[in-house]
Amino acid sequence: MTLLKNFERYPLTFGPTPVEPLQRLSEALGGKVEIWAKREDCNSGLALGGNKLRKLEYIVPDAIAAGADTLVSIGGVQSNHTRLVAAVAAKLGMGCRLVQESWVPVDDAVYDRVGNILLSRLMGADSRIVDDGFDIGIRDSWKEAMQEVREAGGVPYGIPAGASEHKFGGLGYVGFAEELRAQEAQLGLGFDYIVVCVVTGSTQAGMIAGFKADGRAGRVIGIDASATIDQTRKQVARIARNTAALIGLEQEITDEDVHINPDYAYPAYGVPSAETSAAMRLAARAEGMITDPVYEGKSMQGMIDLIEKDFFPVGSRILYAHLGGVPAINAYSYRYRKG
Ligand SMILES: *Cc1c(COP(=O)(O)O)cnc(C)c1O
Repeated sequence: MTLLKNFERYPLTFGPTPVEPLQRLSEALGGKVEIWAKREDCNSGLALGGNKLRKLEYIVPDAIAAGADTLVSIGGVQSNHTRLVAAVAAKLGMGCRLVQESWVPVDDAVYDRVGNILLSRLMGADSRIVDDGFDIGIRDSWKEAMQEVREAGGVPYGIPAGASEHKFGGLGYVGFAEELRAQEAQLGLGFDYIVVCVVTGSTQAGMIAGFKADGRAGRVIGIDASATIDQTRKQVARIARNTAALIGLEQEITDEDVHINPDYAYPAYGVPSAETSAAMRLAARAEGMITDPVYEGKSMQGMIDLIEKDFFPVGSRILYAHLGGVPAINAYSYRYRKG
């Protein structure tokens, strides 16, 4: 991992994630392109895994060096990120304080009792729900949680929403790019496009910095699920530039390197459209691959629609980065009660 040689990594994942062809899905969409998946959803034994662990591997050494005894973080009620911070805290023997905001206008009867929040509570996190709405930036409730830990005599370490606005938040997905290059060499093939869901931004931003080295930054197709596209685009560009500077990349990140499609985030963050649900069903029925209604269902929807619209030239090899997130589907029990 040459781009990351100067950074300490605390292992939380199994190692390189599997890359596999999705042959039946490719055929179901007319066979014009070859769809593959890189299974970040299967990356660890920690609390069902997911993209946040790749980011946290580069953040944990800083938390340990800071002498922290409590990880503090924030997200929606069904945040995958806070679930994985809770898992990391348990693994490290630290405390965990989570601020769970009311990001999603979903009124499923079990929304705040199942899926991610259930797992966080099971792992011993002090998880508290607040009324604030959706925002990917830095919040007062988070600063207050930090202060509370201090007042109780603890040493908090703050990890912002999605681990994105952290100085090392983009490094994990630089590692994804390096790992994929090695896998491509091994498989004897290359991917023309990488499709990835984007919300707090450091996953795509890390990929942009990581793939800039081989001229593919603009081939990372971000599918927005935030529905706050201007803020997301700015945040991705900023994190990509900061990450590029951090790893000493010589090329400059340009606006063309930041490709984000806003067309699939409707009607709102955390609310699947009929087309999102149709995409989730297709992936499930063609491949047995489960996606969630908040993130991966939307990037699956975007990839399918872009294939149907011939956005990708015939014969393209497309890599769908499956970032995890399946536990949240339990919070949509009524919507999917018939499949
Ligand atoms: C957090 C998350 C994303 C979005 O990643 P960002 O780095 O926040 O843009 C996508 N999918 C899943 C499953 C996630 O948990």
